[in-house]
Amino acid sequence: MSTDKLIEESKKYIMNTYGRLPVVFVKGRGTKLYDSDGREYTDFLAGIAVNNLGHCHQKVVVALQKQAQKLMHVSNYYHIEPQIKLAKMLCQHSFADKAFFCNSGAEANEAAIKLARKYAKTNMGEGRYEIITAENSFHGRTLATITATGQPKYQKGFDPLMPGFKYVPFGDVDAVAAAITENTCAVMLEPIQAEGGVNVPREDYFRKLRALLDEKGLLLILDEVQTGMGRTGKLFAYEHFGIEPDIMTLAKALGGGTPIGAMLATEKVAEAFSPGDHASTFGGNPLVCAAAIASLETILEDGWILGQSAALGEYMKKGLMALAARRDVIKDVRGKGLLIGVQLATEAAEVVKEALEAGFLISMAGVNVLRFAPPLIITEDEIDSLIDTLDRLLEKRSSK
Ligand SMILES: *Cc1c(COP(=O)(O)O)cnc(C)c1O
Repeated sequence: MSTDKLIEESKKYIMNTYGRLPVVFVKGRGTKLYDSDGREYTDFLAGIAVNNLGHCHQKVVVALQKQAQKLMHVSNYYHIEPQIKLAKMLCQHSFADKAFFCNSGAEANEAAIKLARKYAKTNMGEGRYEIITAENSFHGRTLATITATGQPKYQKGFDPLMPGFKYVPFGDVDAVAAAITENTCAVMLEPIQAEGGVNVPREDYFRKLRALLDEKGLLLILDEVQTGMGRTGKLFAYEHFGIEPDIMTLAKALGGGTPIGAMLATEKVAEAFSPGDHASTFGGNPLVCAAAIASLETILEDGWILGQSAALGEYMKKGLMALAARRDVIKDVRGKGLLIGVQLATEAAEVVKEALEAGFLISMAGVNVLRFAPPLIITEDEIDSLIDTLDRLLEKRSSK
């Protein structure tokens, strides 16, 4: 089918929930994507921080092929071998003692919200159910998670929203302290706000917040759906801040390109769930767990990918800062590892479109921020050629 025909049928048969760019990708290898006309692109989005190992990584492909031939799905009425192995690996490499598996980031956050409420009911006394989240946060598109999301644009048209959420400015411990009431049970935050504009908190924010929550006996839920799995140069972004959460959610890059989410917690908090409290038919099925194991093993091997994410993140930020010195339309460059935001004085959408025409996938985080989340195997050469292209695209938008 021709590209035009594909796009015509896409518009005819698929609900109109995405503003899609006019391209159909049919093949991916490493950092490259190929469209239905055979044109090659370099990927600085990675399916929104999903393809951290690049497209069709050989280890993930082989793990999927082997598992598909052996056992694809079995109910959680039974114990599942790849699920056990994945849970053990995640616990051994994080603060957590136990895992629950689901299929997406929003579902992982739903599970976290339910666990926090259940824990509060059994451990904090009656009436503690409220969760404090941050302005400009993003936690997903289900009803509870759009309510947790501190951005009205995601909530408009869907009220009544879920009761029990409250918002404070991100990065302000005093604001959290002031928002805590006798109803509060937890604070839920992204370690670095991704969709909200790639906002990195001050170095001491999470240490002060953790101390406050410990003093009050409240839970810290970290949404690492986008920042987890090596994206920021550490396996989990909380490792940058010298603290540990009580609950953490993962999805995006966890499955090496397959749909899987996870909610991890300490033993003490996880104990609040008993059989029947939460479930998912597909959650942690053998197929996606096999892919996740292969992906996690690859990320952990010798740590070179984590080192690469940190070093190339610094390299890319330096290049973008040098560009900012030449092109005054750039107002700020920020991020950690290979999650990088570039704040523009103008709207980002047109730049994203022009970058695609020039052969690069990039995206936005909010109206004015370009967001870069390339596969962690991106190269310095590819970063250089993206920056050259941005230089050209931003020239006409700058006064110098
Ligand atoms: C993408 C994202 C989600 C939602 O994940 P889905 O898999 O789309 O449901 C939640 N939280 C954060 C921080 C995200 O980046």
